[in-house]
Amino acid sequence: MQTDLVAALDIGGTKIAGALVDADGRLLVRTQRATPAQEDGETVARAVDEVLAELAGSALWGRVTALGIGSAGPVDASNGTVSPVNIPGWRGFPLVARVRAATGALPVELVGDGVAMTAAEHWLGAARGYDNALCMVVSTGVGGGLVLGGRLHPGPTGNAGHIGHISVDLDGDPCPCGARGCVERIASGPNIARRALEGGWTPGPDGDTSAAAVAAAARAGHPVALASFERSAQALAAGIAATATLTEIEIAVIGGGVAGAGDILFAPLRRALHDYATLSFVQGLKVAPALMGTDAGLVGAAAAAASAPTTPRRAVRAGR
Ligand SMILES: [Zn+2]
Repeated sequence: MQTDLVAALDIGGTKIAGALVDADGRLLVRTQRATPAQEDGETVARAVDEVLAELAGSALWGRVTALGIGSAGPVDASNGTVSPVNIPGWRGFPLVARVRAATGALPVELVGDGVAMTAAEHWLGAARGYDNALCMVVSTGVGGGLVLGGRLHPGPTGNAGHIGHISVDLDGDPCPCGARGCVERIASGPNIARRALEGGWTPGPDGDTSAAAVAAAARAGHPVALASFERSAQALAAGIAATATLTEIEIAVIGGGVAGAGDILFAPLRRALHDYATLSFVQGLKVAPALMGTDAGLVGAAAAAASAPTTPRRAVRAGR
């Protein structure tokens, strides 16, 4: 019997996805459930049980050597608990114990979704070949993760690299996290849209007020839409520059819906990096769009498990 697969769970506010992932990052078996995010915690946990039961029912299950979980945060990997902002029924929910009860003796690794995305981009995506990288998701929120010295750096609780809640505006707007002027409070999709609307941008006949609609207006030259993306890019650049100055990352990889705006985001971002990443050792910092798409969570959860110290060396040799 080969033992070369890793099971992966990707838990978010809209879906709970599971897969069996091989040593090349292919998803050999996949399944998912809608997240009953507004139900009680036990109902959400039963959806996880169902996904796991489906994976365990596969003929390939015997080849699985470890299980990785990437979850919406905050997570606490040191205690095996999760408290996803968008799943109110789970506060300090003992997810690792619950998964262990269903899967037995397999090593289980829990990381935040930003860290999982980072593991995926480092293994097979835009950060491949870089020993020091920051990977970010810019969408409804702003998350991220770090690769340092060639290894994923989840930190003690699985949240390291959470760049969305670095403050880049000391007296800025209050952030739901309790601080002020956070990167997320300025750069996220909803904040791009809010700022555009406040500045006098009006949506088209379809009434679409998403960041994607603002991006379309920016592409057509609308000055308020352009300015809102410019401001988002500035906040991202300040956060990335701070990270680079602290850790000497060589590349920042950006994914998520807002990154889908392409040059509308990346052009002002590269310009703003010149303003904030000024010291000689950060001037060569690269910025690139993420490559892994919607499977990044599953591939990354597998990579995080495969690179964890508790996982047998025969497992997927990813993310080292
Ligand atoms: Zn914050």
